Amino acid sequence: MALNHYFNNIVTATTSIFEGMSITFSHLLRKPVTIQYPDRVEKPVQEMLPARYRGILDLDINLCTACTACQRACPIDCIHIDEVKVDKTYIIVPETGRKVAKIKSPAVFNINIAKCMYCGLCTEACSTSAIKHTPKFEMSTDNLNNLILRFVPPEESERLKAEEPEVIKRAEERKAAEAAARAAAKAAEKKSPPDPE
Ligand code: SF4
Ligand code: SF4
Repeated sequence: MALNHYFNNIVTATTSIFEGMSITFSHLLRKPVTIQYPDRVEKPVQEMLPARYRGILDLDINLCTACTACQRACPIDCIHIDEVKVDKTYIIVPETGRKVAKIKSPAVFNINIAKCMYCGLCTEACSTSAIKHTPKFEMSTDNLNNLILRFVPPEESERLKAEEPEVIKRAEERKAAEAAARAAAKAAEKKSPPDPE
């Protein structure tokens, strides 16, 4: 009985070694799925990624209305926005052709890409497609500070912040002028005699 058990163990061990090795050896004949990187590929890796690959984030500042929806959507607070009021303009959302009023702009728009987990929630929250994932994935650095993406240069940030009081003043003057014009039109309507029937 004990002898049987002993030989059975030998057979099991030998079979399992052959099974394991057959899988290992089968890979010798297969086309490799791994690639040599970065210098031995037919074309740049970024061009071989799927269309919806979620790489490092990018921002089109012209499309950003500083609504902060992306900042609020980020579950780990990677995004920091300081918004300022700007003179009203309109932007056209590229994907839909929708016209959107822009009355604010980011004076600071930073993304801490070291914290980012590439979940895409910020891009889904953005109604103007200003924030998007790119196929970029290389940002190796030995300094964490280099992983904070700053989309508004400091001098531009200073300029926007300095101009904000004037922008607010202009908007208030415009509102007051519009209200006065509406009141004048109403008064003129009241004074004019009713149409003869
Ligand atoms: S991809 Fe996710 S983690 Fe990264 S900034 Fe956007 S919401 Fe935050
Ligand atoms: S990137 Fe989009 S969601 Fe974020 S503040 Fe700008 S417009 Fe709003």
